[in-house]
Amino acid sequence: MTDTVSRDASGEPNQAGRSAWRWLAGWAVASLIAAAGVTALHLRALDGAMQAEGQTLHRVISQRADQHDALLTSIGAIVRVPGPLRSDLVAVLADSVQRFYPRVRTIAVVEIGAEPKVLFSTHPDDAINPAPGAVASRLAAEPPGRSVVLPGAAGSGFYHLVKRAGAEPLALVMTVDAARLIEAEPGMAATAIGLRAEDGMAIITPAAAPPASPWGGPALTFDKTLGSQSQPLLLSLTRQLSLAQTVPSGIIAALAAALGLVAWLGHRVVAERRKAEAARRRASLSADEARLAQATRVNAMGELASGIAHELAQPIAAILSQSQAGARLIRSEPLDRQAVIQALEANARLAKRAGAILDRLRDYVRPGAPERRSTDIGELIGHVVALIRADIAGRGVQLVVGPVAADAVVLVEPIAVEQALHNLIRNAAEAVEALSPERRRVVVSAGFAGGLVEIAVEDLGPGLAPELAQRLFEPFRSTKPNGMGLGLALSQRLVEANGGRIAGANRPEGGARFTIALPLHRAAPERREAAE
Ligand code: ADP
Repeated sequence: MTDTVSRDASGEPNQAGRSAWRWLAGWAVASLIAAAGVTALHLRALDGAMQAEGQTLHRVISQRADQHDALLTSIGAIVRVPGPLRSDLVAVLADSVQRFYPRVRTIAVVEIGAEPKVLFSTHPDDAINPAPGAVASRLAAEPPGRSVVLPGAAGSGFYHLVKRAGAEPLALVMTVDAARLIEAEPGMAATAIGLRAEDGMAIITPAAAPPASPWGGPALTFDKTLGSQSQPLLLSLTRQLSLAQTVPSGIIAALAAALGLVAWLGHRVVAERRKAEAARRRASLSADEARLAQATRVNAMGELASGIAHELAQPIAAILSQSQAGARLIRSEPLDRQAVIQALEANARLAKRAGAILDRLRDYVRPGAPERRSTDIGELIGHVVALIRADIAGRGVQLVVGPVAADAVVLVEPIAVEQALHNLIRNAAEAVEALSPERRRVVVSAGFAGGLVEIAVEDLGPGLAPELAQRLFEPFRSTKPNGMGLGLALSQRLVEANGGRIAGANRPEGGARFTIALPLHRAAPERREAAE
């Protein structure tokens, strides 16, 4: 029975389960693709935001750097006043510059003649101040009025903007606190900002960047040289994303849920459609099979005729002899009334038996849905054997009835099971009829197996063709030149319609063994125990 349960409506085993797995796998793949797509889009959006932020910061810092040039120019105007250096005026201007622009750390005036020296400095003792000689050599090749960068010590966070002040051998030095120069907008806390001199030397090394971890996301970057002519410093922004920032899990979860819903609905729709299709196919199959069953029964009439004739011959011959005996008794003196009555009663019994045989023939070819009834397996086998024996004998095949369990009663439509058994016996006979005489033998038996009553038909023929192994009960599978391949398909239908199971396999010792297993309806107590 498990065989029937594991099949779905379309008759293919576990198809519904396989289909559900396919939908699940499809959903998983679609979700993965969607997750990858959404993550890529999300990263693009993050990078876009980073580039926009970078551009804004770049513009602001470039403007700030340009301000340094303007400041140096105004200090230069004072320095260039003829006569001795007006340090007092320079100090006043430098003081107000530093108040407005805290990133300007020191302002100094250096003489860059033969012996360079500091003439003025807002912070003469500041360690960050450049050596006067370094200022002189940086400006050696520069024309007056052009500001250039003199980097501070590597990583110091400072750089100097230096410039010749007019024709005098004087130079202006402005030391800039780069950290304050690149001070970012409040929203950019997660972004590490770095600044490098033209020669690649780091002025500010980005400190905030967390080390990239294998579980982290990618790093977003923005690199651009400042727009200031005098301070072409390279601004670089880095933002290391965490996995959580990289993968928009909320959107992905929502998408996966939506895809899951679509997959589930798709699965339902396809399953419903398949079910409807299977039901339609079954309905048309049943109609076909009903017609087919009827046709096969009528076709089998030819074979049955000899069986019927054989069956009827015996009661008719007996009726004849009983009637002749009765006539003799009536003519004889004294009249033995009792013997005459017995002869007539025997005739009535024999006529009833002949009538029952004809009834069975009528049942066999009549269409419609006969009822199930309690049927003794031994009797059922007896009916089939009686009907088919003559045909089998005509093929030179011996039909042997082996052990048959007594008291095994099943609740079936007997004609249907008889027809299935008839098909099995005829197939077995056909399998052996061309073989040597000792192999032309078909054995029918019945016993209990796994709580069921099992009728077995065994032969010593060539066994089942390998190509049929998996599809024995599919219609139109035949290895016979004139075979229709319908007998087994029809037999399966008939047996399953009666709650039973039909199976066929090769016997280890050669030949084939077909079985019809039917649920036990009633048995003698000791038999029931054996069956359970
Ligand atoms: P048909 O008899 O018209 O071929 P069936 O459905 O009755 O149709 O049988 C299908 C096929 O199963 C047969 O052609 C034969 O190859 C195989 N078959 C059935 N019974 C036996 C058997 N006892 N031994 C060997 N092959 C068999």
